[in-house]
Amino acid sequence: MFIETPILPYRLHCPEAVWQFPCREGEKTVYLTFDDGPIPEVTPHVLDILDTYRIKATFFMVGDNVRRNPALLSRILEAGHSVGHHTMNHLQGMRTGTFTYLRNALAAAQLTGSTLFRPPHGFIRRRQARALSRRFTIVMHSVVTRDYNSSLSPEHIFDNVKRYCHPGAIIVFHDSLRAWPRLETALPRIIEWLISEGYEFRTIHSKNER
Ligand SMILES: [Zn+2]
Repeated sequence: MFIETPILPYRLHCPEAVWQFPCREGEKTVYLTFDDGPIPEVTPHVLDILDTYRIKATFFMVGDNVRRNPALLSRILEAGHSVGHHTMNHLQGMRTGTFTYLRNALAAAQLTGSTLFRPPHGFIRRRQARALSRRFTIVMHSVVTRDYNSSLSPEHIFDNVKRYCHPGAIIVFHDSLRAWPRLETALPRIIEWLISEGYEFRTIHSKNER
C-alpha cells in the first residue's frame, strides 16, 4: 500500500504539488492521468477507450515522445483532453543535477505548451520542486495503479483502484508498452466501475487556468 497511495512523509516532501483535489460533501470527482506517452502502439488505443465512454483525461507526456509523435499530441488536444509534461527524457530527479533537470523539464514544457508538470518516478529534489513550482503546477497523485508491473494481473490493477480511489483522487496509469498488457483489460473495467460508483471525470489544469 506504500506504493499505491502516498503516505504523509512522502507528500510533505513536495508540499508545492497537487496530490488530490478537494470535493464538496457528496461530490465524487476523479482525475484519470496517463504518463510516459504519447506512443503510436498504445496511446491511440487509450484514446479510443476514453472516447467510447466519452470521458476526458490528462496526459503527462515525455518530451522525446512528443517530438517523435507530434500528431498524437494534436489528436489528444483536439479530443479535449488536458496535457502536461514529464521531462524530455524521463529523468529521475534524485539522480540528476538540478540544472540538467530543469533544462530538460523546460524543453518538454516548450514542446507540449503546457504548464502542468509531473516528475517521472514520482520523485523530485526539493530544490527542483521549488524552482519548477514557480512556473508550473506540479501534479502528483493519490492512487498509483501499478499497471507497469508485469508481475501483476489486470485484476490486481482493477482492485488497486477499487481499494484506494476516493472523491478527488488523481489516478496514475501509463500509456506505455510495459503497462499496456494490463491496461488494455483493466482500463475499461475501471472506467465502468467508476461510472457505476457515480464518479464524474475531470481533467487537470494549471492553477492559473482553474
Ligand atoms: Zn513516467
